[in-house]
Amino acid sequence: MLDRKRIVWFILLRVLVISGLLAAIIIFGRQEAAAEGGLAVLARLVLATYLFSLLSLVALRYSRQFRTIIYAQIVWDVFLVTTLILVTGCVNSPYAFLYFLSIISASTLLSRSEAYYTASLCVILYGAILDFQYYGKLAPLGVSPVPAQQYGAGYIFYLIFLYSAFFLLTAYLAGSLAERARLSESALQEKAIDYQELERLNSSIVSTIDSGLLTVNQEGRIRVFNRYAELLTGILQTDAYDHPLAEVIPGLARFESEFCRPLQGEFQYTGADGEPMLLSFKSVPLTGQEGEPAGAVVDLHDLTQMRRMEGELKRADRLAAVGELSARMAHEIRNPLAAISGSVQLVALREWADEKDRRLFSIILRETDRLDGLLRDFLFYAKPTQPNKVALNLRRVIADLCSLLSTDPRLEGVRVENRVPEGLVVVFDKDQCSQIFWNLLVNGAEAISGDGVIEIEAALLRGQGSGAGDPDQVRISVRDTGSGMSGAQVKRVFEPFFTTKKGGTGLGLATVYRIVETHGGRITVSSLEGEGTTVTLFLPAETRAEG
Ligand code: ADP
Ligand code: MG
Repeated sequence: MLDRKRIVWFILLRVLVISGLLAAIIIFGRQEAAAEGGLAVLARLVLATYLFSLLSLVALRYSRQFRTIIYAQIVWDVFLVTTLILVTGCVNSPYAFLYFLSIISASTLLSRSEAYYTASLCVILYGAILDFQYYGKLAPLGVSPVPAQQYGAGYIFYLIFLYSAFFLLTAYLAGSLAERARLSESALQEKAIDYQELERLNSSIVSTIDSGLLTVNQEGRIRVFNRYAELLTGILQTDAYDHPLAEVIPGLARFESEFCRPLQGEFQYTGADGEPMLLSFKSVPLTGQEGEPAGAVVDLHDLTQMRRMEGELKRADRLAAVGELSARMAHEIRNPLAAISGSVQLVALREWADEKDRRLFSIILRETDRLDGLLRDFLFYAKPTQPNKVALNLRRVIADLCSLLSTDPRLEGVRVENRVPEGLVVVFDKDQCSQIFWNLLVNGAEAISGDGVIEIEAALLRGQGSGAGDPDQVRISVRDTGSGMSGAQVKRVFEPFFTTKKGGTGLGLATVYRIVETHGGRITVSSLEGEGTTVTLFLPAETRAEG
């Protein structure tokens, strides 16, 4: 607490006091001081004090020994007062009271014990001056013992006693007052520090918390609007601050009148990108220092994603149940279907069947075949077999498929370009891998009317993503120059039973999606109407070469 500023003030104050004193002595006290060249001594003394003050200020500038500097000031002051008293007639000097100032400065600048030391020093010095004067010991200094002796020993003793008592009393009073002031000052400082820390803590919590926090005042104007609230609402804090809540977040307007009690609810909000959002809020009333209402704190959360996921989960659940049931049904239908198709084939061989009958039989056979195909696709989709993952040479798998498909009428006029690099290996179930590319190639070929090209490209992507241990992937794209699809169609291609074809089952891409998913892969489709379609697959790679 020994701060530089206070010491500087003290020194300046002393310069002021001493200057005032000098002026007062020159004007009013000339006679007493003028005796025996006292004025000259006084002038020198004041000059020395100026010099000393200047030196002290310089020392203060370059040193941190505050305590030593203060000791020097106090000692200098006491010395100054003593000299002043000597010069102005000792027992008759009116300046003994200046000792009090020294004692008070010691108590304010240092501590209570230092105030006592200073008081004791003053007692000794003042007592010595009076005694020495009385016994004529100060004659060499030009101080006459006569005034003191005129007063008599009793009075001198009384004077010394009185001053001593008052010096000590001053030390006691000033010391305890200063002590008390120091204590309350330090308590205040501590409190100020606590407030600052609290404030910092508070603001960092508010800004980093992962929930949208805002406060409104009694007039319904927004005061706090944290970073997450900005993220949620897409509104900047600067745009929200001091604006009415009902204007910034209209969905909350109807709850505002009830903010006087804890409240929670949900409301619709249109995000910055125009997407509808579902936000939940919790509000707690705020109170002022006297317990009067002062607005509310509102905590916002985004429920959109959660609600969507809930809905998807419910739907998936339902679909799983329906899938299970229908798979069983499909299985049951396939058995009688096989019987029907077998019987019709036998009947068709009978002699009595004429041309017309045979044509009807062939329709029955074709349709039962189609039905069987649909059921097979469906069963595969609804109940995929557990994949037997092995390392597959992708280029070879596709080459085999191409030769198998070369006789297929759907691929007439379609050139398939296998651009998969040699040595690229994926970890996949062999049959399911063939099935994926079979479905994709057939789709591509069906989208091409007349002549066209289907290109298959692949590349190894090493450690994709941010994590260091991310697995390698193979990116495969199947691009055709077919009719392409509209945006709405692209969104639905993976839906089971979505088809735009007359005899289509709409299970091809749904099955591909499911297979890719069970292998931990990813699939995307991009398409331009009239230009063609690109299906891109990301499959787990096997970095070591296939055995
Ligand atoms: P299906 O082939 O039985 O119709 P899919 O699941 O294989 O069923 O395909 C669903 C639908 O997606 C198709 O009916 C078609 O409209 C569209 N589609 C799929 N692949 C392509 C493609 N390569 N080009 C254009 N449209 C496609
Ligand atoms: Mg298909």
